[in-house]
Amino acid sequence: MADKRDYYEVLGVSKNATENEIKHAYRKVAKKYHPDANPGDKEAEEKFKEAAEAYEVLSDPEKKARYDQFGHAAFEQGGGPSGFGGFDFGGGDMGDIFGDIFGDFFGGGRSRGGARNGPRQGANLRAGVRITFDEAIRGVDKDLEITLKDKCTTCGGNGCEPGTSPETCTKCNGTGQVVFTQQSMFGMVRNVQTCPDCNGSGQIIRHKCKDCSGTGYVKVRKKITVSVPAGIDNGQTVRIREKGEPGINGGPRGDLLVNVTVSRHPKFQRQEYDIYSTEPISFAQAALGATINIDTVDGPYEYKIKPGTQTDTRVRLKNKGVPTIRNKNVRGNHYVTLVVQVPERMNDAQKEALRRFQAAMGEIPAEEKPAGKGKKDHKGLFGKK
Ligand SMILES: [Zn+2]
Ligand SMILES: [Zn+2]
Repeated sequence: MADKRDYYEVLGVSKNATENEIKHAYRKVAKKYHPDANPGDKEAEEKFKEAAEAYEVLSDPEKKARYDQFGHAAFEQGGGPSGFGGFDFGGGDMGDIFGDIFGDFFGGGRSRGGARNGPRQGANLRAGVRITFDEAIRGVDKDLEITLKDKCTTCGGNGCEPGTSPETCTKCNGTGQVVFTQQSMFGMVRNVQTCPDCNGSGQIIRHKCKDCSGTGYVKVRKKITVSVPAGIDNGQTVRIREKGEPGINGGPRGDLLVNVTVSRHPKFQRQEYDIYSTEPISFAQAALGATINIDTVDGPYEYKIKPGTQTDTRVRLKNKGVPTIRNKNVRGNHYVTLVVQVPERMNDAQKEALRRFQAAMGEIPAEEKPAGKGKKDHKGLFGKK
């Protein structure tokens, strides 16, 4: 196995390339070397895999940072000769990359491994919903309208005009592949190519269904209910299995990935499963103690303030935070900061009472106003405004 090429070199970009430049570069290289465009060309296939591997790393900020620091050593964990070793290329991630990159070019979903005319899972669809802070706490069902491909009812999905049926491709005998042998300097070489007559489907449709132009699918607008679980956070995704694009050759449908945006709450901030808020209390409540109602996601919560509570005292309300997604009975905490309010405006009676209080605390001498100063100037007790 030859030494691995530098990932930046593979994609032909500089180390300072932006995310977009990397994506564009990968798109270009991948199109050039895609197996569909170079059937049977081993070298192109290797280049294609090499580019996919480079993109897998450079498109992921975390992996890219590790690669920038350690080079290929960052991912060496018994990688196989295919060059794919050490990456979790199986399943969703790879499909997502291809859905993303090739969705418009190869019709999505086509590039997922397996025999060309074997069953393959359809492409994933993406959608988004916006929910309120409270809905995220409690969980909510949201109706979503999406456009997806569904089996054509006119032809039952086989793409043929009713009354006709697809014929087995005679060139490949229905296998979707043609094999030919070639004399080369190393002897006879066996080559496998996608059948050009049927494009790998193994079938030829002579009379195409008019409703679906022979594709077997029609676009339909569908209402789907998304169950957003309690505890979901802004930016998280709900995966609905098999509500994406239809599978190919009897494969399962792709998934629908719903990205959830949670609106901000005017009073509560969330961090992981904890909630933070501030609650104003008066000077008298802080000094004397009081029972107040604190706003929580469960409604008002009765709380006893201890006499002599200082401003910025933080109170923990256990299990009043956000329910965890796995078990909604397990919840975070709600941290409340009590902020003592200084009255901004007082009438004469209130000022008078406060001065008497000051005197009782021994802060000012018994005879009232110091000469030459207005009564505005009493500011000892609460400090600055
Ligand atoms: Zn049809
Ligand atoms: Zn064929």
